[in-house]
Amino acid sequence: MRSHTLIPALLLLGSLTSACAHGTSEPPVTAADGARPGASPSPARTVDPSKIKGLEIVSDSSENGSCPFATSYPDVPGAEAMTAAMKKDVERQLATFRSGACAGSADGRDLNISHEFLVASGDVLGVRLTTQDHSSASSGRSTRTYWYDGKAGAYRTPPGLVAGGSRDALIAALKDRLKGREGVNPAALDDTFSDPVSGASVLDDMDFTAGGALRVTFDRGEVGVPAAGAYTVVLPEETVTPWLSGFGKRAQRQTMRPSRSLDLGAPHVPAPAVPTHTASGDDDTDCKKVKCIALTFDDGPAVPETSTLLTHLARYKARVTFFTVGQSVAAHPDLVRAEAKAGHEIGNHSWNHPDLTRLTPQQIASQLNRTSAAIKAATGRTPTLFRPPYGAINNTVRTATTLSPVLWDVDTEDWKYRDPAKVARTVITKAQPNDVVLLHDIHATSVAAVPEILRTLTARGYHFVTVSHLRATL
Ligand code: ZN
Repeated sequence: MRSHTLIPALLLLGSLTSACAHGTSEPPVTAADGARPGASPSPARTVDPSKIKGLEIVSDSSENGSCPFATSYPDVPGAEAMTAAMKKDVERQLATFRSGACAGSADGRDLNISHEFLVASGDVLGVRLTTQDHSSASSGRSTRTYWYDGKAGAYRTPPGLVAGGSRDALIAALKDRLKGREGVNPAALDDTFSDPVSGASVLDDMDFTAGGALRVTFDRGEVGVPAAGAYTVVLPEETVTPWLSGFGKRAQRQTMRPSRSLDLGAPHVPAPAVPTHTASGDDDTDCKKVKCIALTFDDGPAVPETSTLLTHLARYKARVTFFTVGQSVAAHPDLVRAEAKAGHEIGNHSWNHPDLTRLTPQQIASQLNRTSAAIKAATGRTPTLFRPPYGAINNTVRTATTLSPVLWDVDTEDWKYRDPAKVARTVITKAQPNDVVLLHDIHATSVAAVPEILRTLTARGYHFVTVSHLRATL
């Protein structure tokens, strides 16, 4: 990502004068700096993504241990140039991963790109993408922030938060803070920042704390020895405010005192309709007496695929289980509510689809608890089932949660074969009574396969039930 962020960063620094003109009438920011140096790079305020009108989460993933990846980034109406930048970044990383690790042995490797909203307020949108790459060629965790200036209608890279004339002052302050840190070689640091290419590329993660301080995060190995990990420098609000561009000042203010909604000036698009199917009572199917099958749909909810799927399922009165990812539940709680209301089961598929066997018990618990809380908030009910991403499970994972794990009997590999006819054929030819079938409702092609699956298997006497129902009646 270094080479990718470089050009826009430099272009932006050259064109900041026009952006600054908007900032002159803005009131000064006065809140105290509440940041601690070295604080973890988390959002200053929690953004509720379900309040962002027209938001779509663009997700891609495999469920396959031989090529384990999961990526996501948000698509916010009005911020198309920023979405395009994230898309390009994510697709480039995924293509590299798939042509490398997946083409050979992917043993012990996986790629995860997740997103978090930093600011979604007024005319400012800020997003951080975090890449966790366990492939041997990578340095591990890396982060970038992306900014959109709704007032100017422009995508901003992190250096765009700072006025062009203040860049030297910012760099001097960063160098000053870094030079005292363990693992930083002062001479190498001077070299990094004196070179315009590397100097711009390491400044790819900047945001504000709740107190208005500027937080700059450097990936592992960028400014110090890799063994020292990532470095975070927090520059106090009073130091940094005079250096900010007009956009930077607005981004700082919207971080400290978010307004109620985001308005990037996009034309109003009516929210897509959420299906309102309602289940008619409890399912009395007895799987001891009739042929049952449990279709499961992972990695959603997704717009518009999940809505389309709910309509197909309602037509056949089929009940299924959704293994949802928390970051998408938070964005689309209305869809998860619609799934539950239609009589489907909602399971937990982690917050952002990591390989749980690589995490500590605390991290595993956090991934699952955060997602269960989002599901409870959406539906009023806490899930009882979870599906570990990639089916990767061990005793550490089992003991870190009270949720019951669910794997699968039939893998459609629908993430690989984006062909409705092939997906339908796989399910129809492989399905046996009481099987659990793995599908993904983030893929339009998988959703398009569902009517054929429901039609054919219904004709063969199958009943479509949830995983908990299957387990309870067997
Ligand atoms: Zn998955």
